[in-house]
Amino acid sequence: MANKSTIKTPIPELAPEVRVTNFSEVALGYTPEQAKEEADRCLNCKKSPCVAGCPVGVQIPEFIGKIQEGDIPGAAEILKSKNLLPAICGRVCPQETQCEALCIRAKKGESVGVGRLERFVADATLDAPPPPKPAANGHKVAVVGSGPSGLTCAGELASRGYEITIFEALHKAGGVLVYGIPEFRLPKAIVARELQSLEHMGVTIKTNSIVGRTFTVDELFAQGYEAVFIGSGAGLPSFLGIPGEAYNGVYSANEYLTRINLMKAYDADSRTPVQRAKTVCVIGGGNVAMDAARCARRIGAEVTIVYRRTEKELPARLEEIHHAKEEGIVFKLLTNPLRIDADEKGWVKSLHCQQMKLGEPDASGRARPIPVEGSEFDIETECVVMAIGNSPNPLISQTTEGLEVNRHGCLVLADEEAMLTTRPGVYAGGDAVTGAATVILAMGAGKTAAQSIDSYIKRKK
Ligand code: FAD
Ligand code: SF4
Repeated sequence: MANKSTIKTPIPELAPEVRVTNFSEVALGYTPEQAKEEADRCLNCKKSPCVAGCPVGVQIPEFIGKIQEGDIPGAAEILKSKNLLPAICGRVCPQETQCEALCIRAKKGESVGVGRLERFVADATLDAPPPPKPAANGHKVAVVGSGPSGLTCAGELASRGYEITIFEALHKAGGVLVYGIPEFRLPKAIVARELQSLEHMGVTIKTNSIVGRTFTVDELFAQGYEAVFIGSGAGLPSFLGIPGEAYNGVYSANEYLTRINLMKAYDADSRTPVQRAKTVCVIGGGNVAMDAARCARRIGAEVTIVYRRTEKELPARLEEIHHAKEEGIVFKLLTNPLRIDADEKGWVKSLHCQQMKLGEPDASGRARPIPVEGSEFDIETECVVMAIGNSPNPLISQTTEGLEVNRHGCLVLADEEAMLTTRPGVYAGGDAVTGAATVILAMGAGKTAAQSIDSYIKRKK
C-alpha cells in the first residue's frame, strides 16, 4: 500500500559530536524496513519523470517497484544494468538536482529518496556473485585514468568482450573517489568492492602509469590498442593569485584531501605529514570546500569557510552544507580574501579579507559580488586551504599530437555525441572534457564513449 508521508524516511546518521572525532561514515543507510517504507512512497508513475533526470538512465520506478515487492536481487539487476557504480552514486550523487528534482512527489512535499534507495540496494547486494565474464572479442582498448568516467567506459567495453587496460597515474585506482571524497562520505572499502567487480569482468588496472610520461598515447596505439579513452579528470588546482599563497600552511584542497584521505594522514599510525592546525580557513563553497573543512574539523581544527557570495549561491550539495554546519563549521559569507599574512618564520597567521555585497548577475548567471569600501578585516588562522576549483592537467594534451584543448585546458570534442576528440581513435569524457563536474556526469560520458568506441572498432573491421 502506498505510503502517503510527504517527507522522506529519515536515514540514520552518526551524531555530530561523535562524527567530528573520527572518519567513520556519517550516513548509515536504510534498514530493510526503512527501505520498504521509503519505496512505498513511490507512485510508479507511468511517465516516470525521474528517469529523465538520471544521466545514465536508471529505470527508477522499476527498481523501486522490486524493493516494494521485497525482491532486492531483482532491484539490483535493474539498477546495475544501467549504473556500474550504484553504491558510490547512492552516496555522492547530487540527486536533489537530478532524478529527485523531477519526482512527482516533490510537488507536494519531499521527493522519493531515490539516492538512499539506490544505496540500500547496492549495499545489500555487494557480496552477490559478479556476472559471468563475457567472451573475448579479440580487440584491445586503453583507458587513461581510473575515476568514474574511466571505470564506466572500461566496464561497458569489458561487458562487450573487449580486453581493457586502465592506466592510472596514482598508486591506487578510483580517481577522486579515493583521493578526494573523504572516508566519512564514501568509505574506501565500498570503492574497492566496486573495483573488484570490474576486475572480475577481466579489466586490468595498471597503477603508477602516467600517460604522457611513462608512455604516450601514440605508444599505446603502437602497443596494439585500437582506441584510447581519456578520463584523466581535472586535478590541477587553481589558486586566487593573492599575495602570501606561498607561505607555510597554505594548501590546495587537492593536496590537503589527498594527504588526509589517500595517504591516510588522519590515522595516527600514518607517516604522511599534514599540518595539525588549531584554526583553518577554507576558501570556496563547493563540495570540495565542504570536504576539506569537514576533514580539518576531524583532525582537530576550528574551521571557517570563507565564501564571497551568500548561502543561497553555495554550490555544494545541501546535505554537505547541513552536515558541515552540524559539525560546528563557521560560514563567513560575503567575504573575499585579499592577502595571506605570515609570522616572521613564514607560517600563516591570518587571512586579510574584505566584506562583499551582491550586485547584478554576472556571465555565470549568479549575482556578482561587489567589494564594500572600507570593510577590510583579518581572520586569525594558522592554515588556509584553497578550494576554488580545478582544471585538467595539460600533460596528455601536451604530449599527444592532434589533441586540441580550449582556453580552460579542457579537451575539445570534434564529435560531442560520440565523445570523440580532435584525434581519430581517441575518445574522452568526464572532468577532462567538462572541467570539474560530477561523478554521474563523468559516468554518463564514459558510457557514451564506450558505445562510440565499440561502433568505431566494428566499423574498422
Ligand atoms: P577523476 O575522478 O578525477 O579521475 C581521473 C583519474 O585520472 C585520476 O585517478 C588521475 O590520477 C588519473 N590521471 C590523471 N592524469 C593521468 C595521466 N596522465 N595518466 C594516467 N592517469 C591519469 N561529484 C559528485 O557527484 N558528488 C560529490 O559529492 C562530489 N564530491 C567531490 C569532492 C571532491 C573533494 C572533489 C575533488 C570532487 C568531487 N566531486 C563530486 C566531483 C567528482 O568527483 C568528479 O566530477 C569525478 O570524479 C570526475 O570523474 P573523472 O573520471 O572525470 O575524473
Ligand atoms: Fe517514483 Fe517519483 Fe519517479 Fe514517480 S517520479 S516513479 S514517484 S521516483
